[in-house]
Amino acid sequence: MKIYNTMTRKKEDFEPVEPGKVRMYVCGPTVYNYIHIGNARPMIVFDTVRRYFEYKGYDVNYVSNFTDVDDKIIKKANEEGVDASVISERFIKEAQKDMEGLNVKEATHHPKATEEIGGMIDMIQTLIDKGHAYNADGTVYFRTRSFNGYGKLSKKNIDDLEAGHRSIAVTGEEGKEDPLDFVLWKPKKEGEPSWPSPWGEGRPGWHIECSVMSKKYLGDEIDIHAGGEDLIFPHHENEIAQSEAANDHTFAKYWMHNGFLNIDNVKMSKSLGNFFTVREISEKYDLQVLRFFMLSAHYRSPLNFSADLMAASKNGLERILTAVDRLKELKGTDGQIRADEKAVVEQTEALVKKFEDAMEDDFNTADAVSAIFEMVKLANVSVTEDSSAGLIGLVRTKIETLCDVLGIITDRKQEILDGEIEALIQERQEARKARNFARADEIRDMLAKQGILLEDTREGVKWKRA
Ligand code: AMP
Ligand code: ZN
Repeated sequence: MKIYNTMTRKKEDFEPVEPGKVRMYVCGPTVYNYIHIGNARPMIVFDTVRRYFEYKGYDVNYVSNFTDVDDKIIKKANEEGVDASVISERFIKEAQKDMEGLNVKEATHHPKATEEIGGMIDMIQTLIDKGHAYNADGTVYFRTRSFNGYGKLSKKNIDDLEAGHRSIAVTGEEGKEDPLDFVLWKPKKEGEPSWPSPWGEGRPGWHIECSVMSKKYLGDEIDIHAGGEDLIFPHHENEIAQSEAANDHTFAKYWMHNGFLNIDNVKMSKSLGNFFTVREISEKYDLQVLRFFMLSAHYRSPLNFSADLMAASKNGLERILTAVDRLKELKGTDGQIRADEKAVVEQTEALVKKFEDAMEDDFNTADAVSAIFEMVKLANVSVTEDSSAGLIGLVRTKIETLCDVLGIITDRKQEILDGEIEALIQERQEARKARNFARADEIRDMLAKQGILLEDTREGVKWKRA
């Protein structure tokens, strides 16, 4: 299996630290709002990487954090006049709902930064003891020049970086020895969450959080560390400096980064206001369509989000689901695969191989999806009522298995039946008569969630599917 490693800028053969096991860490979202569809890209892409490793028989320890202490969370909390934890807890729950809709598997561990402060204090202390960090009046900085490999991931030269930095006098960070140094621990400000530490009340810097959560749940050396390409510098560069300086170990063997999601060919960003939350998209499309859309491109390429491309993904997905529905209904002739069906079996196996070859080549999901489409075409043409039950079962299982590797659900959601709708409307009428308006509203909302709209008319309640 080949993985493009940002560290070497090359595709490399994957060799796990421990045979049969994969330890991977994916930087998760900062939870101050609903996740947007850009945040969904690494979630979907690396969930698919995980699923492929599992398909290959690896035991995967998948860790993805929630950054639940951060300036943006604190700002939002102050605006609403609530504790920062109220904001982060709320948006962790909402992110989890969206992830479920996107069929992102639950991580083996989903640590929250605020629950790992003790480990952060320990690592910062180790860095101080080893001369890699220093306390300047309650702010602890990492001594960037003390780490020899600084810049090795982002391919930045430390002297160029120094030249590009604003001077300490300009930034007001007088305690810093060098403008390149970055924060590990910052002192408490009024109205901010804080924890006691040997350097006074305060909170951790963002980079140290991931170094610590990765070490705690995966150990000193991991296989894969991943995130969006914007994290290469400074976040991942700083994580490497901290972890390798503290642990005296290579931090991660492979560094994977997804490309950015653009909207109508313009970079998607909150400041430009051209972003969609996953929740907004879920009101217009089944989130399976969003997942399928994301996998239609290579994960390292930039990807443009547009209504046209989503429509194309919707059609493509529908083609697969329709083929699976048809295979489910086909009875065929009794028994095992016949000799005259051998060619179809061989073609199916060749397409499974094509799918695997695509995934082995740095997770080329675009080509993997093509292999599934070819299998769908083969099924539509060559698997009929005259086929053996054995062949029908084989082709169906292969399509379902490969879709599952991509996290695409082939079972259609159970649609609510007309009779059930009528019964619920009846119950709602009775609830209203009994002045139980809570129950009546509950039924209306429940139906609305299923896309059933109610209209109260003089002739009674009418309903329609949205
Ligand atoms: P953040 O909450 O900004 O720390 O982002 C969480 C994850 O989403 C990181 O891995 C980011 O690199 C990734 N991400 C943010 N915006 C985009 C985007 N427009 N396209 C792809 N990935 C993104
Ligand atoms: Zn991180």
